[in-house]
Amino acid sequence: MIIPQNILDREDYKACADFHGHICMGLTLGYMAAKLGLRHLAEKRAVDEELICIAETDACGCDAIQVLTGCTFGKGNFIYHDIGKMAFTFASRTTGEGVRLAMKPNVMTLPTEEQELMEKIRSGDASKEDIQKYEALHETRSQALFAGAPDAFFSVEEVTIRLPQKARMAPSKLCDKCGEPVMQTKLHAAGDKQFCRDCFDG
Ligand SMILES: [Zn+2]
Ligand SMILES: [Zn+2]
Repeated sequence: MIIPQNILDREDYKACADFHGHICMGLTLGYMAAKLGLRHLAEKRAVDEELICIAETDACGCDAIQVLTGCTFGKGNFIYHDIGKMAFTFASRTTGEGVRLAMKPNVMTLPTEEQELMEKIRSGDASKEDIQKYEALHETRSQALFAGAPDAFFSVEEVTIRLPQKARMAPSKLCDKCGEPVMQTKLHAAGDKQFCRDCFDG
């Protein structure tokens, strides 16, 4: 996919790339999902925990989501649900509304002609014309997709989810084995002693 210059030039896209460290298609997908999610919920970036995001992937896109939506790992309103799909659920604590965005299958799947040309190029059998044709197809497909951005990338489904509790802070106590401070609610009791999970598991 060819990311158009007008997207690369956007300040908010640059902020995502700075945070992530490089520019890639995965980051761009997260950027589109964040835009679409915020638009559907009519929300702005979460200063605190007004929004939550449930990410079904742990790939590059998650970094753009954190930058743009304010749903972050550190605040506890970015939740990883290990499914392996490029899908994100956004929900607002203010309105109780939620949307699940799932990447449309055609975003990553190549049409047959493009696929065949790509395989030919990979195997070294492609002629100059094949390469030109492949590049033209690739460019046309990228342009069409980005022309319809962000909607062209994800399907949107309204959902109601049970919102997770807000992040809780608890005082720390010392683990009876390693002596390090541990959030009290994370301690494991054994007899009259309390251990951090690593010490508890041995
Ligand atoms: Zn990346
Ligand atoms: Zn310990």
